[in-house]
Amino acid sequence: MSLKFEIQPAANPTSEKERTARLADPGFGRVFTDHMAIVRYDQAKGWHDARVESRANFQLDPAVAVLHYAQEIFEGLKAYKRDNGVNLFRPDANARRFRNSAERMAMAPLPEAIFIEAVEQLVRIDSAWIPGGEGSLYLRPFMIASEVFLGVKPSAEYIFAVIASPVGSYFKGGPAPVSIWVSENYTRAAVGGTGAVKCGGNYAASLRAQAEAIEHGCDQVVFLDAVERRYVEELGGMNVFFVFDDGSLSTPPLGTILPGITRDSIIALAKDSGTVVREEPYTIDQWRADATSGKLKEAFACGTAAVISPIGKVRSASGDFSISGGVAGPVAMGLRKKLVDIQYGRATDPHDWVRKVL
Ligand SMILES: *Cc1c(COP(=O)(O)O)cnc(C)c1O
Repeated sequence: MSLKFEIQPAANPTSEKERTARLADPGFGRVFTDHMAIVRYDQAKGWHDARVESRANFQLDPAVAVLHYAQEIFEGLKAYKRDNGVNLFRPDANARRFRNSAERMAMAPLPEAIFIEAVEQLVRIDSAWIPGGEGSLYLRPFMIASEVFLGVKPSAEYIFAVIASPVGSYFKGGPAPVSIWVSENYTRAAVGGTGAVKCGGNYAASLRAQAEAIEHGCDQVVFLDAVERRYVEELGGMNVFFVFDDGSLSTPPLGTILPGITRDSIIALAKDSGTVVREEPYTIDQWRADATSGKLKEAFACGTAAVISPIGKVRSASGDFSISGGVAGPVAMGLRKKLVDIQYGRATDPHDWVRKVL
């Protein structure tokens, strides 16, 4: 199923001079483009009223369901400037994950074709906002429950929208290794919970643990499993990989973790080059022992925003350890380059991941 989008360009778009100034050093998530895509759902009409229009405030009744019961899901993907056009990276995978998230949160599933069309239309109309070099346009599709009703039940109405934010290279001068704090007081996800879907509630629940990481001088938090509190799961918003001295990789199995598209892409690229990749549980004690013995060569986190971040140091209530001397390792950096080169259209794309929108 697809919909025809009504395109209504902004009456007063940002001037070229102002846009250039904002693109000079956009940082992450504070600069936005001129437009947004929006589609509405209700039970009578289904998905309808698809438009691309000037980015503006939403008018919401204070009783809409999302404000009370947090029925909200989102996605994150990027548009990359090529020599003579613009690429999206695996938007079909984001569309599929978004539909899975909707199903878990008892929301109206959005047809994947509408998700992709909304993203592409927004990229086209705001293509002047895509930074050059190692920058990109971060796209944020999301859906909120918009029925005006305080009863506890799945909303009968939804708003799906896509906004876009130009971002600079996440790391200036190459990725610096991050330090991570092992959360022993908080968990992220339990079996049967919402750990595998991209809902805002998971993030709300992770912020206290992230604040604890900062209090302990770390950049990020890493969560352990909720049952035994031993198995490494993932960071607040990134999956994690381990690199061993025999050249193999391992990463925690799917289930309670978020099925990252970067994670999936790294597994495929590593396997392409003959690397053994295991999706298997790994305990924090084993991580410490392997880092100490030298069996573990590297560890890194991965996700759309930062691509790959080497993990240099792990800190917990029971002591600290460092990995590969706290510097970025060659395996993490090699995989990062491979992936980024495909995203920007500088390397061949053996899995047909890139979708040209312009
Ligand atoms: C979005 C997200 C990731 C990374 O997913 P990508 O598709 O690679 O961007 C990892 N963990 C969590 C909790 C996330 O929300």
